[in-house]
Amino acid sequence: MSQSPTHAQRSDVFLLDAERTTWHDETLWFVRQKRDKAVYATPEFQELRQLASDIKDHTLSQLAEYLEQFEAAALANGVRVHWAADADEHNAIVLGIVRAAGASRVVKSKSMLTEECHLNPHLLANGVEVIDSDLGERIIQLRGEAPSHVVLPAIHLKKEDVGETFWQHLGTEKGLTDPQQLTEAARQHLREKFLAAEVAISGVNFAVAETGSVVVCTNEGNADLAIGLARVHIACMGMEKLLPRLSDLAVFTRLLTRSATGQPITTYTSHFTRPAPGKEMHVVIVNNGRSQQLGRPDFRASLKCIRCGACMNTCPVYRRSGGHSYDFTIPGPIGAILSPNIDMRQHVSLPFASTLCGSCTDVCPVKIDIHTQLYKWRQVLGAEGMLPASKKYSMKLLSRVLARPGLFKAGGVAARLGLRLVPHALSHAPGYNPWAIARELPAPPKQSFREWYAHQSSVSAK
Ligand code: SF4
Repeated sequence: MSQSPTHAQRSDVFLLDAERTTWHDETLWFVRQKRDKAVYATPEFQELRQLASDIKDHTLSQLAEYLEQFEAAALANGVRVHWAADADEHNAIVLGIVRAAGASRVVKSKSMLTEECHLNPHLLANGVEVIDSDLGERIIQLRGEAPSHVVLPAIHLKKEDVGETFWQHLGTEKGLTDPQQLTEAARQHLREKFLAAEVAISGVNFAVAETGSVVVCTNEGNADLAIGLARVHIACMGMEKLLPRLSDLAVFTRLLTRSATGQPITTYTSHFTRPAPGKEMHVVIVNNGRSQQLGRPDFRASLKCIRCGACMNTCPVYRRSGGHSYDFTIPGPIGAILSPNIDMRQHVSLPFASTLCGSCTDVCPVKIDIHTQLYKWRQVLGAEGMLPASKKYSMKLLSRVLARPGLFKAGGVAARLGLRLVPHALSHAPGYNPWAIARELPAPPKQSFREWYAHQSSVSAK
């Protein structure tokens, strides 16, 4: 049984602000609807999904070969390639490159991998100033928070929160909430940082084995500006980011933003293949548990994820509990599959943070069977003896009752009677039955379904 708070316990904090919860839910549903419009406007969308899924399946089946091909091509291009077995190695490699460059300031574009490895605290602890250049990332960095969504890292914040943060940290006017003025303030602030940075760190959306290049997609152009200005570029990528050929890329760029935000294409899709004259380019390829997930047949398809966030935008649990309630770098349905791979005990509650409605699977552009994997994790966690006693014993009791028709019938009689006799004040007592907080049960029927069915059959037989 996990000692850390469960997803439900962490959600309680988010749910305290009912107005924010409703707003969060509606905002993400709006993004989901934009995605639907973009999908309906693309007649070949389902063919693209299948193609993307097949390409990713194929790549994962020969990942070692494609990684070697990528490394050879990148080295031939003059790129320095580094391999990191885990987060610590990744952080040590990045710090080593920064130190070798004699740098004390780094600008970083959006990268969930560096979040996963906790790179920022590591660099700061070693005397390196690190500035997130993506607007959403910068806002949460100023607030000392983690991203709550993979595409929209500050989606849990309202413009009033951003105004307050900028007033405190950037000296803007108190009470400023105009998005255009706030964005302009951020632009001025970041421009100074861009010009002063000696090293630029970026994430990687896709890496092409054939050419040895990495592809970075942003809507703000911040990665391009940072990389263009700095002398050293460090691209950090999870080893599952590979695509075999350059021609495969178009399939994914067409799917990525349509699924993420409903845009037809990302504003900037930049290819980085070799360092500019007089500059350095490094690629750090990170494992950090990915080969372990690759070795789990039921869960390996989760490595196909292109981090579009569509499964989060559609998930009724994520929308009403917020990304921080997952307490994992990747929140939402896909995070609930990836997190137990890293630490089953710590993340035991996440596969249960789902209604298993299957909406995540329906929208996933690379056809990951997300809700099936969530269900499978529940079975694995049960078999590992990690379920809380209340769940374990109630399920055991239920399976005994369901296996004995007589017991089931008697249980039905007792429940119908009990529901009529138990006073409302007791069945809805605060702290006793959380389900009853926002629910009323229908009046219990006088007869069971079997009795009703037998009666109907006898009436129609007459
Ligand atoms: S699992 Fe699918 S829907 Fe969710 S973020 Fe990854 S690619 Fe997008």
